[in-house]
Amino acid sequence: MFTANQDYLKLPGSYLFSTVAKKTGAFTQAHPEARIIRMGIGDVTKPLPPAVIEALHKAVDEMASAETFRGYAPDLGYAFLREAMAKHDFQDRGCQIEADEIFISDGAKSDSANIQEIFAGESRIAVCDPVYPVYVDSNVMAGRTGTYDPAAGTWSDVIYMPCTMENGFAPDLPSETPDLIYLCFPNNPTGAVITKAALQEWVDYANKVGAVILFDAAYEAYIKDPQVPHSIYECEGARTCAIELRSFSKNAGFTGLRLGATVIPKDLKDKKGQALHPLWARRHGTKYNGAPYIVQRAGEACYSPEGRAQIQAMVGDYMKNASFIRQSLADMGYQAFGGQDSPYIWLRTPGDMTSWEFFDFLLEKAWVVGTPGSGFGPSGEHYFRLTAFGSYESSVEAMERIRRI
Ligand SMILES: *Cc1c(COP(=O)(O)O)cnc(C)c1O
Repeated sequence: MFTANQDYLKLPGSYLFSTVAKKTGAFTQAHPEARIIRMGIGDVTKPLPPAVIEALHKAVDEMASAETFRGYAPDLGYAFLREAMAKHDFQDRGCQIEADEIFISDGAKSDSANIQEIFAGESRIAVCDPVYPVYVDSNVMAGRTGTYDPAAGTWSDVIYMPCTMENGFAPDLPSETPDLIYLCFPNNPTGAVITKAALQEWVDYANKVGAVILFDAAYEAYIKDPQVPHSIYECEGARTCAIELRSFSKNAGFTGLRLGATVIPKDLKDKKGQALHPLWARRHGTKYNGAPYIVQRAGEACYSPEGRAQIQAMVGDYMKNASFIRQSLADMGYQAFGGQDSPYIWLRTPGDMTSWEFFDFLLEKAWVVGTPGSGFGPSGEHYFRLTAFGSYESSVEAMERIRRI
């Protein structure tokens, strides 16, 4: 008999950002005069760097000629891109990662959702709370999370690691032993970072208990603090316990182009001694046909001297907004966090407002859209996320409106 996947049906409500969009849509319909400033969804707004556009045009022209036309890309990505990444993202930072340990993909969202497929069904996951929703939801869809407690907003088989003001939004080691640990630094949504020494403790812990860390480095380009690692492979022993997810979206503005990568060292094995690299290669071979040639050429251009300078300038502009937003909120008396090595500002809601109450308050009084912290997990309640991906002018205008409330 045909029935829908029961695990999918366990997912509570709609995806966080669909709810934000629905509420914003309803408000603008009722108030057509409202000039909304969107500081909610984490999407970039600046055009792609000229070096990337040039590479795209060149690759398109190659596709028009019989001599240089390309069909299916290699499953694991073109060597030119994997080699550029191996050199610039890893080897130049002293990380021992080879090109054939990098799997090119269409982005870190799908990789972070799919990576759980190569682990046993009974694997226990640990996540930061608040968390990027994809990590948990993809495990719900795979039937790994037990039952949902709607009052608590938690799953019975998930280990939650609270990240709050008290621990500086960096989780403590879990009290129960997980098989898979999702970490993301600089963090979405809190904007928090972790020092190399603190990440080393996680690597040592994972090696000790035989857990695998899934390290999401999507915001690595925003790091300014030299104590903060750009890759988990800067830590000793990470090759035997860590998978890293990389993205060109927030780093280089590829949210619409789509490009990312997953790194699986050949030394990495599960508890039973099974190497994980061949499993992910097998999955890619079966379920994925590779990122487009022209997009991989665009990715390669990010590593040219011009590309790097242009990307650095773009990230610098977003970071100028981030510092401004954080400082303005602090000046107004808000408790504001993040925004220093991250495009996200995480603030404590004023008074006793819940995250959703503050969402409505900000939308109605300032026409500013942000993201309720509770949508990222129970420990996100009474917090709120603003992003620095708008223009400087709109960031200034938004802070002015909030000041006037
Ligand atoms: C935006 C984001 C991603 C998604 O990256 P894509 O490469 O665009 O799929 C991954 N992880 C986190 C934490 C993000 O915020």
